[in-house]
Amino acid sequence: MKKRPPTDPRKRKGLIIVNTGEGKGKSTAAFGLAVRAAGHGMKVFIMQFMKGQWKAGERNSFARLSPYIEAVPMGDGFTWDTQNPEQDRATARKAFEIAKEKLMSGEYELVVLDEINYVLNYRFLPEDEVLETLKSKPAHVHVVCTGRNAPEKLIEMADLVTEMRIVKHPFGEQGIPAQKGIEF
Ligand code: ATP
Ligand code: MG
Repeated sequence: MKKRPPTDPRKRKGLIIVNTGEGKGKSTAAFGLAVRAAGHGMKVFIMQFMKGQWKAGERNSFARLSPYIEAVPMGDGFTWDTQNPEQDRATARKAFEIAKEKLMSGEYELVVLDEINYVLNYRFLPEDEVLETLKSKPAHVHVVCTGRNAPEKLIEMADLVTEMRIVKHPFGEQGIPAQKGIEF
């Protein structure tokens, strides 16, 4: 066991956290932090980039943790159509503007930008702009960025970076279908 770090509530520092890598668990780890923060009565905002809707398990849990957790899928009210890159770029922009406003408001103590790394990989948003936004966020706000292939510059500026490494996945050679509560 690692030694526990000292705790001092006066030394509050909003962390930039990155969950990346090929293995499963990037988003669920971010949602785990959201649950932990909500347990302290901290306000959490979660924006899901890339995917249209939440999986049922997440959506229902977030609803139960309201008002501590507020979660918005990018597909909410916007059309997400991977056949149309222009439209996807516009959708990513709208989602980012909402997330940015929540982040900059300082009202949320934890902001999760789920799958933002995909948006950056696909160049749906300019990397520099997203990184600048993270740099200028209110000092007390923690931010989590998830998704494979986190940009190098994001990794450099982050305080906490974890790479999920696949050792086994049930979808692979084992051919086990998606399980309720694990995948959705
Ligand atoms: P989760 O949402 O379960 O935490 P994740 O955020 O790490 O997963 P994503 O890249 O967002 O992973 O992909 C989400 C979906 O893809 C999940 O259903 C997950 O099980 C599946 N997945 C993730 N990693 C792998 C993998 N290495 N092989 C096959 N499927 C995977
Ligand atoms: Mg994910």
